[in-house]
Amino acid sequence: MASFDPNDHEIAELGPKVKDIEDREDLEEILEREKEGKNRAGVKTLVQSRIDKLKAEDEDAIDYSELDPGEYTVADLANEMRKVEEIEDLKGILEREKAGQDRSTAKDRIQSRLDQLQSSEGEEAEEQLPPEEKHPDLDHPTADKQYVHGVENGEYRDMWVYCETQQGELVDVSLEMLGKARQLMDDYNEQYDAEERVVAVVIGDDPESHADDCIAYGADVVVVHEDERMERFQHKTYAEVFCDVARGDGHPYGREGKAERVWRDYDEPRYVLFPATNNGRDLSAQVQGELDSGLASDCSGLYIEDTVISNPAKTIGGGKKEFERVLHMKRPDFSGFEYSTILCLDKPDRDFHPQGGSVIPGSFDVPEADPEREGEVYHSDLEAPEEWFRVDIEDHDTLEEGIDLTGHDVVVALGRGIDDDPTAGIELGLELRDAFEDAELGLSRGVITSSYSFDGHVEQYIGEDRQIGESGQVVEPDVYVAAGISGAIQHKVGMDESDIIIAINTDADADIRDFSDYYVQGDLFEVLPRLTEAVESGELQLEELATGDD
Ligand code: FAD
Repeated sequence: MASFDPNDHEIAELGPKVKDIEDREDLEEILEREKEGKNRAGVKTLVQSRIDKLKAEDEDAIDYSELDPGEYTVADLANEMRKVEEIEDLKGILEREKAGQDRSTAKDRIQSRLDQLQSSEGEEAEEQLPPEEKHPDLDHPTADKQYVHGVENGEYRDMWVYCETQQGELVDVSLEMLGKARQLMDDYNEQYDAEERVVAVVIGDDPESHADDCIAYGADVVVVHEDERMERFQHKTYAEVFCDVARGDGHPYGREGKAERVWRDYDEPRYVLFPATNNGRDLSAQVQGELDSGLASDCSGLYIEDTVISNPAKTIGGGKKEFERVLHMKRPDFSGFEYSTILCLDKPDRDFHPQGGSVIPGSFDVPEADPEREGEVYHSDLEAPEEWFRVDIEDHDTLEEGIDLTGHDVVVALGRGIDDDPTAGIELGLELRDAFEDAELGLSRGVITSSYSFDGHVEQYIGEDRQIGESGQVVEPDVYVAAGISGAIQHKVGMDESDIIIAINTDADADIRDFSDYYVQGDLFEVLPRLTEAVESGELQLEELATGDD
């Protein structure tokens, strides 16, 4: 007989009630009643997850007061230690390890759990309900985070840089990141009296050919993973390889049988940088997810500093806490008018390492290469299994070289003002372009990084090769038409030398107004067709505006 009928309760009331039930049979009865009654998906998930949890606990129940650590590998032992709640049990396990195999990494893992329990002892533990119990009315597809694992109280060192290659060449942003990493780690070593390194990671069919360049541009160590099947970027394989090389020997979730790597003795990198390119963004999210850390995407400024934080999620019981050696990752927000600084900080009960970010191409200078620099090269020994290669590239084509926007009389540039109907916006821009003898279509970065879905016939016009601005092309046409562009500084530097700037914007006070010669306050979907019509009929001769002829 069930202890209560779930159908008598609102879904939100059931979380606390179900959480307190320890009897699996009772829960099974409650589940049956719900199925026969209101049959609510959220309630069924809630009850079932409690049943699964109790079942797993029963199955896994180990008497820790008797546990013999010698029967475990270090990785398995580290895993098991996370579950031990009694300080006395841990002390006993530590003693038995010392008396037995006396492995230093095993002792570290036991000791770190012991420290953790001891530091939280006496503090009133805040009740932490799992999300599915706290919000039973929501779906919880990620309740079972079985594939995502971080380290607790790990050892972290060095700044790692994923060096992307394209068509057999290191892309510029890889060199830019190496230069920045070098400068950051030089300062870091001085400030903290440390000897931490810049580690470049290159993956591909011939990665070693880039090792000298990586060293010349700032790396101390280059880790290469060579596999002819990895000539081109693939999400799964590249992420698996990167995580495998990033996880140290004896890492609790690392690969068994990894060859010992003499050059490192830490669990994971302290910092990691990826390029904010298509592939780099893809890789960075997966890697940081797999390593159970965070990611600041699209950064354009980096520095390392100690910082004091009072966020209660990051400090025990509130108050202030100093975090050392924090990578401050600055990224543009609000269309580049504001910058946020993102920090990836450990919590009292779990680590957030590596501290990682992706870097916008062009944010840092390519450093001068120093061919005399010395560094070390190491090979990853991972044999990537065939099942990782889920994508078979049978054919490929290389895009024609990008469009050249410079040297035209007129540039018609479109920004996120096309948001209401992106395809129609591009069509209108093209129509205005075609009304001139010598004009081209440009875009703000806002359009390129948006997730607009364009109809096929205009898709070909959306690409970085049409981007105008700091990290795109710099143009100086006679006439620059900026439709639906706010005028962020990064856009401005690519076009403000134009002779005449005409801006079309619904906002009466968009920043672009300050450096426009003509400002049309209006909707580009209405203004562009009228402009096209006026140019086509000869009523308006924009080029003449620029030369002063009438
Ligand atoms: P938004 O800022 O969103 O502006 C859209 C504008 O459209 C608004 O002013 C709005 O009032 C107006 N609008 C809305 N609806 C309509 C309508 N129907 N009709 C008319 N107007 C309308 N950006 C670049 O462009 N080029 C670069 O090279 C570049 N490089 C960068 C490099 C770095 C390191 C960083 C950090 C950023 C870079 N950016 C660059 C991004 C830049 O900061 C801005 O995010 C981007 O320029 C904003 O694009 P936008 O003006 O199209 O979009």
